[in-house]
Amino acid sequence: MKQYIVIGLGNFGASVAKTLVDKGYNVLAIDKNKEKVQELANTVTHAVEADATDEEVLKTLGVRNFDLAVVSIGNNIHANVLTTLLLKELGVSYVIVKAQDNLHGNLLSKVGADRIIYPERDMGVRIAHNLISSNVMDYLEFSPNYSIIELPVTASMVGKNLAELKIGSQYNVNLVAIKRKGEINISVRNDISFSSGDIMVVFGSNNDLKELQNSI
Ligand code: ADP
Repeated sequence: MKQYIVIGLGNFGASVAKTLVDKGYNVLAIDKNKEKVQELANTVTHAVEADATDEEVLKTLGVRNFDLAVVSIGNNIHANVLTTLLLKELGVSYVIVKAQDNLHGNLLSKVGADRIIYPERDMGVRIAHNLISSNVMDYLEFSPNYSIIELPVTASMVGKNLAELKIGSQYNVNLVAIKRKGEINISVRNDISFSSGDIMVVFGSNNDLKELQNSI
């Protein structure tokens, strides 16, 4: 059973901790703020009120025995970077850290963060994509050039099958799944005909996806 540490129990950290517990994992949650710790005390495996920038505290909590740590200390960049450095020096093999901007992210990679995330920026990008392309229901950036999007089928596609529509070959994209009435079909065969209300889950380069969006 994997053991996780979540440090900083603001909105993001608390939500990570609760989800891991929901999925059945052990979570050690740490925050220096008493109220934040109390809010999660009955949810997570252990909730501890502590300053994560204190090396002795981290040692006492046995952080080196954990597989993965998520550092979600927000505004205090100094505490965020120092905690990351200490976790790596104490031997936590995988440390994921929430960064505020690219400069902060660069600093974190220099002190050994294994993965740097920008939740607010990424969510902003995702929402903006949803807003500007009215037919895109959801958008997930895979890398700067590749994404997955959800597109509802259009009236002209209903009743036709994939062999006829040739979406993949025509637009150089990969139709990875079809959502129908809340169910997801991931074995997309060529003889499947689209029904009204179907949603296509499509992977491809941003340019190809844009062309698909504009053409259907
Ligand atoms: P969010 O934007 O996800 O709500 P916040 O910046 O509001 O994030 O929350 C960060 C959390 O990190 C706060 O609960 C704060 O008490 C905690 N925190 C800040 N510094 C430390 C530290 N040195 N040790 C432990 N927790 C800390």
